Amino acid sequence: MDEGYIKFKCNWIKEKSVKKSDIVELNFWRSKFFNLGLIGMYSNGVGFGNISIKHKDTFIISGSATGGLKELDEQNYSLVTGYDFKNNTLNCSGEVKASSESLSHAAVYEINAKIRAVIHIHNLELWQELLYKIPTTSKSIAYGTPEMAADIKRLFKETNVNNQKILCMAGHEEGILSFGKTLKEAAEVLLQFYNKKTS
Ligand SMILES: [Zn+2]
Repeated sequence: MDEGYIKFKCNWIKEKSVKKSDIVELNFWRSKFFNLGLIGMYSNGVGFGNISIKHKDTFIISGSATGGLKELDEQNYSLVTGYDFKNNTLNCSGEVKASSESLSHAAVYEINAKIRAVIHIHNLELWQELLYKIPTTSKSIAYGTPEMAADIKRLFKETNVNNQKILCMAGHEEGILSFGKTLKEAAEVLLQFYNKKTS
């Protein structure tokens, strides 16, 4: 599984940047997805799935290598303070580095300012089912790269992903990403598809 290590140059300031009150809603939804096994850790110890919300002009995202933790606290989240797709860099501050998939989240926030929440989950069955049936990034593009960010932006131009609020990542096995004006909206899009699969 191609996951779990950071592919961008990470300019990380290690300091307390995230407050407990900032992560209440994030943790509520993150727990739901963790309990469904859609965010978690593979048997090889590599974590998967991540969640973020807009915070002023920046966003707060679950930290790198936190997938296996049942409960997160403010130390397990990172504040993304800047990024540069062209130079493949990301600036973050917090007690942990930002998720390896932060650039994908950044791309979604950048393309539509109304989007305030992004959730990325893994599920093989659902991924296989949704592949190319919903807007899907190219098979040749791996997670966590500037190319992924660019391809997500392409979907916003070429498909109705902005309305569907969910996309599949062909080059990132099991990878599905949803978004919305709120975490609730982003979560409900995912859960609708997930519940259809399991019912
Ligand atoms: Zn992933």
